Amino acid sequence: MLLKINQLTKSYKINREEKFPALKGVDLEFNKGEMIAVIGESGSGKSTLMNVLGGLDKDYQGKVLFKGKDLKGLKEKELDKYRKNQVGFIFQSFNLIPHLSVLDNITIAMTLSNIGKEERTKRAKEILKEVGLEDQMKKKPNQLSGGQKQRVAIARALINDPEIILADEPTGSLDSETSAQIMKIIEKIADQGKLVIIVTHSERVAKNCNRIVEIADGLIIKDQKNNDSRVLPSEKKSEKGKQNLSFMSAIGLSFKNMREKLTRNILVALGASIGITSVIIMLSIGNGVEKYITNTMNEFVNPLVVEVNKKSQTTDTTTQNPGSIMMAATTPFTDEEIAELAQVKDVKEVEKAYAKTSYNSFSIQLGEEKKAFQSLATLSKNVTSENITEGDMPKAGEILISASLNEQYAESLIGQEVILNTEVGGKKLEGTYVVSGLFGEISSMMSNINIVYLNYGDLESMAVEAGAVIEPNTVYLSTDKESKVQGIKDTIKEMGYEGSIQEQLLEMFTEMLSVMTYILSAIAAISLVVSAIMILVVLYISVVERTKEIGVLKAIGARRKDIKRIFVAEAFLIGLVSGLIGILVAVLLMLGINFLTNKLYEVDLVVISVYYALFGLGVSIVISVLAGLYPAAKGARLDPVESLRRE
Ligand code: ADP
Ligand code: MG
Repeated sequence: MLLKINQLTKSYKINREEKFPALKGVDLEFNKGEMIAVIGESGSGKSTLMNVLGGLDKDYQGKVLFKGKDLKGLKEKELDKYRKNQVGFIFQSFNLIPHLSVLDNITIAMTLSNIGKEERTKRAKEILKEVGLEDQMKKKPNQLSGGQKQRVAIARALINDPEIILADEPTGSLDSETSAQIMKIIEKIADQGKLVIIVTHSERVAKNCNRIVEIADGLIIKDQKNNDSRVLPSEKKSEKGKQNLSFMSAIGLSFKNMREKLTRNILVALGASIGITSVIIMLSIGNGVEKYITNTMNEFVNPLVVEVNKKSQTTDTTTQNPGSIMMAATTPFTDEEIAELAQVKDVKEVEKAYAKTSYNSFSIQLGEEKKAFQSLATLSKNVTSENITEGDMPKAGEILISASLNEQYAESLIGQEVILNTEVGGKKLEGTYVVSGLFGEISSMMSNINIVYLNYGDLESMAVEAGAVIEPNTVYLSTDKESKVQGIKDTIKEMGYEGSIQEQLLEMFTEMLSVMTYILSAIAAISLVVSAIMILVVLYISVVERTKEIGVLKAIGARRKDIKRIFVAEAFLIGLVSGLIGILVAVLLMLGINFLTNKLYEVDLVVISVYYALFGLGVSIVISVLAGLYPAAKGARLDPVESLRRE
């Protein structure tokens, strides 16, 4: 006995109180090789019976025994397997999946069992030959006639070599000639030893069967053998298809579906990519700026040296005018203060220096050409030969000038004798010096402040000549490792001192940038949330649109997990594409922004690293998949019988 049902009753809930009894206690037994016609008026319960037999409907009372095993007792996983491997469903309305080719429609049940493509195709070809469709493999369902569609559906039902074929009015939508052809094929199936149960209204179809069961109002009213019984032994089935839908196959299936709605999916991915672009750009600007700051600082000063200045009491260092900060470094250090600085942890050497900034009283004169500069400073470890872009370090009687100052003269000042005019403590100082070299890049952020370096001794003797006194107002602290520098900088700030002018400028600059970063991250966060919602909605719509397809997939044995996987795969694909678009747009933006900042400052403001791109891609995929979980779960929960009834 292959299939046996015992006191089967089934009622549909109409609303909260009322129930409609569709089956009222049915007893039936079916054997291998039987071909049974189930007849009865419309609404008598035929489809209800088929759904229970096929394991699609679990909500019934009574027993359904397959090879002696009660379907009620099966775990969900086992019931899925029963549908996948033991039962083949054929519907009146074919229920082919429209975006899949004939071949894919047939092999989908094998794909659900993770059987390799080669084997799938081989088996599909065999079966297509059986149903006479071997030359239609590549067509989509809507390119086939009704009879051809039903043959595809039969092929699909046969692909996993089930023992039971359930056909619910398989010829109901076909003309009589096509019906006859379809019936021939179904008869052949029964001859192979399978149990075939056909619901039909057609006398002709019923006559072809060897047993007729008539059902009325949920009860069997007739059960008779038609012609000589043809119980045939079926060959032993090999236990195959143990595995389940692989994630790669799910991706493949999703890809085929998404291709059908390409525009929609690309638009969603585009929308979702905005957030990803913001994330990547945000990270990359931070990166570019940090690189720029370190480079600029190192270009001007020795990275192992920390400049210390006293806070000025007379000028307001909080104003945005950089000039007021410049004026800060004028208060001299006392000997006690210098001794104190020498005690700071990790400081290896202390150097006194003098620096002064002025916007009108400093100049350098070459012949008739006289140009102003803004900052005068004595040499220290702060400036090394690394910082010199042309020429040499100045010896006594020589000076070093910034490249941008040199640029202002008609010819290069290197090696030339110039007159240096400065002012200290209200006294004018003048001296003749040879320019030994240049430092700094011409067009960098710092280049609007022109600096002249000279040796401390030279400045002192100029001052003595003019009757002025030079007191050190800048102290340089040297250390031996770059990793110790930040600690020293922090300590001197705690002690109430300030860093170099450049550092103070950069601090301001960094502050501005962090505001920008906040804005960018807000944009990124908002757009990520928006894209998550967008993906959720689109996938939700996709689930609704594909309800029938989900029903079909479940009927041929897809587990909840498989359905979930198909939609998660779809979310994954959207995430992948939007991530890639995000990276592409970020790179284009980077090229555009850097083109501008290069023109202005010779600097790359946005520096995208592979890690940021990968991070963006990862974020995109994770968000999409998370957003896809809910619609996927929704799809997985759909009731197969109801889904199939959906038009
Ligand atoms: P048949 O296939 O023989 O035409 P069905 O098995 O589809 O009949 O339906 C049997 C009875 O159950 C019908 O009266 C039908 O109206 C009712 N029925 C079927 N599905 C539902 C449902 N989901 N909710 C309520 N009643 C249903
Ligand atoms: Mg029906």
